[in-house]
Amino acid sequence: MNVNTIVLHTTEGTFLPSYGGGASAPTLTAVPDMKGKRLRWYQHFDFERSARALVNKNGGVETNTLNVAQVELVGTCDPSTHKKWKAKGYSHIYWPDAPDWALKEVAAFLKWANREHAVPLSGPSSWKAYPSSYGNTSQRMTFSEWNNFRGICGHCHVPENDHGDPGAIDFVKLIRYAKGDTGKPPTSSDTYTVKKGDTLSSIARAHNTTVAALVKANGIKDADKIRIGQVLKLTGSAPKPKPTYAPFPGAAYFKKNPNSSLITRMGKRLVAQGCGKYRVGPGPQWTDVDRQSYAAWQRKLGYSGSNADGWPGKASWDRLKVPAN
Ligand SMILES: [Zn+2]
Repeated sequence: MNVNTIVLHTTEGTFLPSYGGGASAPTLTAVPDMKGKRLRWYQHFDFERSARALVNKNGGVETNTLNVAQVELVGTCDPSTHKKWKAKGYSHIYWPDAPDWALKEVAAFLKWANREHAVPLSGPSSWKAYPSSYGNTSQRMTFSEWNNFRGICGHCHVPENDHGDPGAIDFVKLIRYAKGDTGKPPTSSDTYTVKKGDTLSSIARAHNTTVAALVKANGIKDADKIRIGQVLKLTGSAPKPKPTYAPFPGAAYFKKNPNSSLITRMGKRLVAQGCGKYRVGPGPQWTDVDRQSYAAWQRKLGYSGSNADGWPGKASWDRLKVPAN
């Protein structure tokens, strides 16, 4: 069976647990090396074998199933434990406020699981803080939600279980790091099934898109009314093209009377800056009028004398922001 779901836990301890000699072991445990700023990973079961970390009651649904990898993060998600440990001087990770290096290490693992096992880099948008994540909360999945779930969730989301770990871990950041922090919106083929407690804005945040994009992609009439079980297309908002500017071509370039669209683009920027002296154009042929216009730009930037002679220099050019094409 192929793993397609990862359940994240916090051990609520500061060391690698013994897991009752393995009887309740997860698939993997990540032990923080606080000084080295890295996680040491321990693998207890084959990635493709079912682990033992979840409560699985008779009847109901199977929780320790073969498609689920259990990952224990050593540390706490409980603010009161965190406070105690801090007072005692225990070096530890309080996962809701985990250092970036730790989130990045977990994200690297998730990225691997996505690449090698196609575990989707998505999951619930509600990650309540411990202890409000304990017990039968609104964010815990129903049996059918669990059976249909593929992706990354917390112990706090698994049915038949009470545990509230890993609490308010920064799941959005974790996924962002796992995706290589591209900031790219999802592709049009990605979907998300609405869970209890979701709102369009929490879904948008968790998937790097916007409420407006979700409303548009799914023809939603009322953004406050989404149904549990509703499948949403995750088409992102179009990424804003990053403006790229033409690099400074060198001072000598202009003295060779260039004829290029670069000169037109430069001229348009000079006009936009209120420095255009053109009666016609600007056009591609460098002329004295370009030089006069450029000199006006240099004066506008505070240059004078030979620094405002109309021959472009790198500093003024860069500030003019001439489009690359
Ligand atoms: Zn747990």
